[in-house]
This record gives sequence, C-alpha cells and structure tokens, in this order.
Amino acid sequence: NRELITSVDRLMRHADKVRRLAVRANADTPDDARHAIHRGAEGVGLCRTEHMFLGERKKFVQNLILASTDAEREAALAVLLPLQKDDFAQMMTTMNGKPMTVRLIDPPLHEFLPDLTELSVKVAVDREKGVLDPADESLLAVVRKSHEANPMLGLRGARLLLTMPGLIELQVRAIAEAAVERLRAGGDPRPEIMIPLIGSIRELQIARERAEAVLAEVGAESGYDLSFPIGCMIELPRAAVTSSHVAEEADFFSFGTNDLTQTTWGFSRDDVETSFVGHYIDEAIFGTSPFESIDVDGVGAMVRLGVEGGRSTKPGMKMGVCGEHGGDPDSIAFFHSVGIDYVSCSPFRVPVARLEAGRAAVLAPEPARQ
Ligand code: PEP
Ligand code: MG
Repeated sequence: NRELITSVDRLMRHADKVRRLAVRANADTPDDARHAIHRGAEGVGLCRTEHMFLGERKKFVQNLILASTDAEREAALAVLLPLQKDDFAQMMTTMNGKPMTVRLIDPPLHEFLPDLTELSVKVAVDREKGVLDPADESLLAVVRKSHEANPMLGLRGARLLLTMPGLIELQVRAIAEAAVERLRAGGDPRPEIMIPLIGSIRELQIARERAEAVLAEVGAESGYDLSFPIGCMIELPRAAVTSSHVAEEADFFSFGTNDLTQTTWGFSRDDVETSFVGHYIDEAIFGTSPFESIDVDGVGAMVRLGVEGGRSTKPGMKMGVCGEHGGDPDSIAFFHSVGIDYVSCSPFRVPVARLEAGRAAVLAPEPARQ
C-alpha cells in the first residue's frame, strides 16, 4: 500500500509539474474550501453565494423582497450585511493568499418565497376563518407577481441583481469589509467578484459600475486599495457570441457550462434526472449526456468562441470553467486545447482534474493561444 501511495504521489507531482491548466474548486463554505486545499486546489473558482441565504436566513431575504419603503429595505439589508461579511471573512481566512471567485447571488427570486399553491390555500382558509394575517396577504401578492413559468429563464442572476435594490451593494460591501478585516489582521484576501447570467454588455456595465462604487467607498473608508477583479460568467449563448464586446467590461470570464449546455441545447437541466428529456438525452440518442461531458461541437464551440472573443479584446484575459464539466476527465483535455486557464470543480474531483490536466498537457503541449 505504501508503494501504491508513493506511486500516486509521484504521478500527482508529475501532473502538477507539467499541467498548464490550474485547478480550483467550487466551494461555498470554509469547510469545503479546506477540503479543496487539502486535495490540491489552487483557489476557489466558484463560491455560490445563494447557498449562504438558506435556512433561517431565507426569512431575511424575504423581508428584503417585501420591503416597500427605503427604511424597510435598509433594515433588511442591515440584518444581512454582518452575516454575509462573516461568511466571506471566514472563507478569506481559509483561502488566504489564493484567489477566491465570489459569484453574486444567482437563483430565481421564487426560491426565497413560499410555494404559491400552499400560500394561496393558507390565505383562503385563514380568510374564511376570519384570522387572515395582512402580512400573508401582501406576501401572496408578491409571490403571485413573481411567479414564472420558466424560472431558470427568468428573473435570476444579473437580472435579479440589477432589479432588486441594494443587493449588489450588500454583497460587494460584505466582500469589501471582510477583505479589510483580513488585511488589518495581516491576511492576504484575494476575492474576485463574478456576475452571473450576463446576456449583454449593458448588464455587466451597470453591475460593474455599482460594484466599483462600493469598492471605492469602502476603500476610502478604510484606506486600503480594494480594486478587486470584476468578471462575469459566460453561460448564455448570447454572452459567448458577443464576448469580444462583453470583455470590455470584464477582467475575467468563467464559463458556466451547466447553464450553457441548458441554453445551447434547450434541455432543462433541472429535469434530466427525472423526465423524458433525461431519458432521451442519456439513452435514446446520445449515449452520454452533454451535461456530463462537454459537447465539443456545440457547447464547446460556444466556449471556444467566448475565449477567442474575449482575448481578441483583451489578450491574455483570464478564462475559467466552473460548470460540472470542469471536473470531468473527458472535458478537461478540450478546455486545455482551447486555452482555458483554470477549471473549477467539486473538491472531491480536484485530484482527478489535476491528473487529467497533466495528461492533456503531455498529449497536446501547445494549446490554442490568442
Ligand atoms: C453553471 O451554470 O455552469 C454554473 C456553474 O452555475 P450554476 O450551476 O450555479 O448555475
Ligand atoms: Mg449557472
């Protein structure tokens, strides 16, 4: 066994020496980040901040959604700010000196709200009994208004960030204040701010302006330079097609191949486990699912287009992949070949990604470079 461990270690060291692709991890908690580092991750490529708003915090987000006056909104934000700041400070402590890509909140609005049918029934029953709480009634009005037939194609990602007052400012201030706290303690925080589900440069422009204003504000308050990189996910075909334009406002791109597969194929990613579509993809037609291994001719072509477009505007622009494909052995060689700089995957897939990145470098030492 000792011999086996020595051989694996030697193989790993060799892969690390030859690979050109960096390997980061998708991690939302300091625990995940610790596991990732233990397995050799060189940073966090995707911190999904929506996971920080689950459990009892959902209620606080609900208060923010329901706020109808500035005072109510500010009160809701004031509760969330220290919680978010603490989340980021903990992650930054774990990731000290390593890049940590923080993606601003992404999921559809309805994920923070109660189920429409259940709430409708409750309101109807309470009204009948004469015990209706007016707060439930106004909640129902909001839930009805925000109901969408296709939430994954609706008000999420950049769309939510741009339309919900105070959300960008809350998250960026929490990142900035956490970074200041770490800097004051002698740490080396390296957050990178990432905007999800960008479709057009205009969305990124607005988000960036608002994020930069907060960084400048906290920078002035603290006396630290907080000009952290601001980039975006490329996970809609339109973003890939217009990438040379989008790159004007982005310091980096990260390809969200889960959504990019969904939106390029038009297959619902949430139904592949359970539905006819899942059966159709896996068995009837393809044999392998494009959600598992990159579909080189279609989704892969979008990635290539995104990389080339971005670098035609900004040569050497940093490019990552943070969809599930980032940890898929069959997809890693493709990412290497189109000049991606790093893949980011679940912590437990990091060792395999390091090996596959090494193999890709040995088999094709010179990836496409613009
Ligand atoms: C993606 O779409 O590939 C991605 C990484 O984001 P999420 O899976 O959180 O939508
Ligand atoms: Mg996505």
